[in-house]
Amino acid sequence: MNVYDSGRMADVLAPLGYAPAADACDADMVILNTCHIRDRAAEKVFSELGRLRLIKQARAEAGGRMILAVAGCVAQAEGAEILARAPFVDIVLGPQTYHRLPEMVAQASRAAGAVIDTDFPAEDKFDHLPDAAAPPGLTAFLTIQEGCDKFCSFCVVPYTRGAELSRPEAAVLAEARRLVALGAREITLLGQNVNGWHGAAAGGAPSSLGQLVRRLAEIPDLWRIRYTTSHPRDMDDDLIAAHAEVPQLMPFLHLPVQSGSDRVLAAMNRRHGVADFRHIVERLRAARPDLALSSDFIVGHPGETPADFEATLALIRQVGFAQAFSFKYSPRPGTPAASASGQVDEAEKDRRLQELQALLREQQAAFNRACVGLRTKVLFTGPGRHPGQVAGRSPWLHPVHATGPAGLIGRETEVIIDAAHPNSLSASLPEQERACA
Ligand code: SAH
Ligand code: SF4
Repeated sequence: MNVYDSGRMADVLAPLGYAPAADACDADMVILNTCHIRDRAAEKVFSELGRLRLIKQARAEAGGRMILAVAGCVAQAEGAEILARAPFVDIVLGPQTYHRLPEMVAQASRAAGAVIDTDFPAEDKFDHLPDAAAPPGLTAFLTIQEGCDKFCSFCVVPYTRGAELSRPEAAVLAEARRLVALGAREITLLGQNVNGWHGAAAGGAPSSLGQLVRRLAEIPDLWRIRYTTSHPRDMDDDLIAAHAEVPQLMPFLHLPVQSGSDRVLAAMNRRHGVADFRHIVERLRAARPDLALSSDFIVGHPGETPADFEATLALIRQVGFAQAFSFKYSPRPGTPAASASGQVDEAEKDRRLQELQALLREQQAAFNRACVGLRTKVLFTGPGRHPGQVAGRSPWLHPVHATGPAGLIGRETEVIIDAAHPNSLSASLPEQERACA
C-alpha cells in the first residue's frame, strides 16, 4: 500500500511542478514513506533520516534548499518523536492526509519550523486526490479499502491507518478503467482487510469483494485481477465462488493465518480458529483446484509455548504454502500484546523463526519444482536480466524469465516452465509462439 500511496503523493505534487528525481542528491524534496508494522521497519526511518540530513546540509551550503518530509505510519505514530530526534525534518504527515501535501509544502516553504498533519480528517482523501498523472505500467495497485477495526493484539494498523473504510464501487471501477486505459493489464486491489470491502454499489446497496471482482472482470483488456491482504474471517462464500467463476481472478491468494494454535489465535484476538482456516482452504481449493496459497506467520507472540509453535509447523505441513512471510513477534507501543505477560525470549524467537522458515523454504521449493513442465500463461512486463530475455509473472506471482523478443512485453503468452529456482522460474516459448514472436 505504501507503493500505491507514494504514487498518489506524486500525482498530488505533479501540478506544483514536482517530478520524480533519480537520486535524493538531485531532489528539491524528499518524502520518506514509512512503515510502523515492526520495530525494524520503524528504526530504518531514523537511520535513513541521518543520511538525508547530510544531503540536506550539503544542498544548503551550496545555496539550495531541500524540503524533507516523513509520511506514513511512523509519522502517524511517532510524529512528535521524529521532530525531537530529527529537528531538520520540515513536514510530518500521516497516511490519511497526503491529499493536503500542496498546502503543507507551501507552508513549509514560507515559514521556519516544521509542519505536522497527522489528523484523521473527516473528509475522505480519495475524494481530493487527482487522477493518476503517470501511466501505471502493465501491473498496477488500486487501494479499495483502508484501515482496520479488528484490533489484533499485536498490530498497530488500527491505530496508524485508522478505522475501516471502503471506497464506493463506482470510484473503484472508474479508477480501474482509467488504469486500464493508461496501459495496466493486471490490477491488484489493496486493503489492510481487502476482503472486508463493502463499498456501496450503484443505488447505495452494500456490495462485496466477490461482486466487485465480477464487475472488474467486465472491463475489456483487464486480464488479471488480484487482491491483498485478506483476513480469514472475511472470506465469504461469494468471494470463494468468484475464484471458481472469474477466470481473470488469479489462482494465488495471500491469506495470513499467523499461528496454527487455537490458544495463540485467541490471545491474538484473531476471531478465527485453526479449523476455520483449514475449512476455508478446502473450499477455495474445491473452487479453484490450481489455487496456491501464501500466508503470514508470527513466531513468539506472548504466551506461545513450544507446543503452540509445533502446532503452527503442523498446520503448515497440512496446508502446504507456495510462499510465505514470517516474522518474530515485535512489541509495538500501545498494543495489548506489548504489555502482556509471557513475552518470549529473543533467542527462542530466533530459533523458532529459523525452523519455521526452513520448512516454508522447503515448501516453496517443492511448489516451484512442481511447476516444471507446466504450460501456463505469463504476463511479460519488461526485459529480463540477460540480453535476449523477457521477464514477467506467472499466475502464481513467480517472476518468470524466458528467452524471447522484446515484442512479447505487454502480452500474456503461453509458455512452458522448464526450470525452477528458489524465488523464480525459467520458461521457454512453445514452438508456434517462437515462430510468430
Ligand atoms: N491485515 C492482515 C495483515 C496486515 S499486517 C491480516 O490480518 O492478516 C502484515 C503482517 O505483518 C501481519 O500479517 C503479521 O504477520 C505481521 N505483523 C503485524 N504486526 C506484527 C508484530 N507486532 N510483530 C511481528 N509481525 C507483525
Ligand atoms: Fe492488523 Fe490485520 Fe489484525 Fe487488522 S486484521 S489488526 S491489519 S493484523
